Amino acid sequence: MTSGKLTLVATPIGNPEDMSPRAKKALAMADLVLCEDTRVTGLLLAELGLKVNLLSYHEHNAESRHPLILERLQAGETVALVSDAGMPLISDPGERLVRLVLAAGIPLSVIPGPNAALTALAASGLDSSRFVFEGFLPARGKERRTRLTELRDEPRSLILYEAPHRLLRTLTDLAATGLGERKVSIGRELTKKYEEYLYLTVAEAKALYTETAPRGEFVLVLEGRAEFESRQPIREQNIVAADNIDDLIRERLAVGGRLRQIAQEVAELTGRSANTVYERILQLKKIKSEAPRLGDSDGRRQ
Ligand code: SAM
Repeated sequence: MTSGKLTLVATPIGNPEDMSPRAKKALAMADLVLCEDTRVTGLLLAELGLKVNLLSYHEHNAESRHPLILERLQAGETVALVSDAGMPLISDPGERLVRLVLAAGIPLSVIPGPNAALTALAASGLDSSRFVFEGFLPARGKERRTRLTELRDEPRSLILYEAPHRLLRTLTDLAATGLGERKVSIGRELTKKYEEYLYLTVAEAKALYTETAPRGEFVLVLEGRAEFESRQPIREQNIVAADNIDDLIRERLAVGGRLRQIAQEVAELTGRSANTVYERILQLKKIKSEAPRLGDSDGRRQ
């Protein structure tokens, strides 16, 4: 009996025009298309003008679907697997099915296409010669803490996926793990109408999303330890200046001007991030306003 074939088919991550002709053809030819959510894939198929046999296949029903899928493949059918968006198996279902199919000696092919991680990496301006895909961090607990510590020591660029409602939590945890000064490139709504790339430090991104609620889909590309440390000589040269950071701030405050502008100037001089300097300006202003003046109760002249 001739066995069928499993084809993993990439679909767009936002822009329907990213569907390749080959991917479209593979879906049109498949006897059965497995998808995470029949409504999501149904919409894509409607846009493509395709009518196919759809069957849901996700984290919660994968095991129970395997016998049927194997049976159909062994009967010579062509089965395609898609996820809601992008490459199947990349933070999406399919790994167990691929292993089963390989173990059963059934042919497998992949039709590559859009992927949020690589799209964001390409635009990140960070080291793309060696990188690590981390996907979603564990949501909480010891596993999350251990992973964060591992990330801190990882020399290569790191790619993270994050849901909007957890983005600030993750940036806060990264900063608390000592990664506040690392560069982070944030790719939002990639290939969609409101696509945006931000180039910040982790501390700056944390400050931004503390003030503005994150919306849409996000990929974070985090500077690895090797690249961060390669910038170290410049940072160290600036430590002398950084020691004088308070003096630099005070000089400029005495002249006057917008605090954000002062923070920017001092940041450029000292190699610190503008937000770090801004926070220091606020602290210095607070200290000054709280300092006991001569004649006050604490600073009373004897
Ligand atoms: N399989 C997909 C791929 O190849 O990129 C990833 C699926 S994963 C379940 C979903 C996550 O991918 C989102 O939470 C987000 O982090 C990222 N993502 C997917 N599409 C995106 C887009 N258009 N812009 C930014 N991030 C996206």
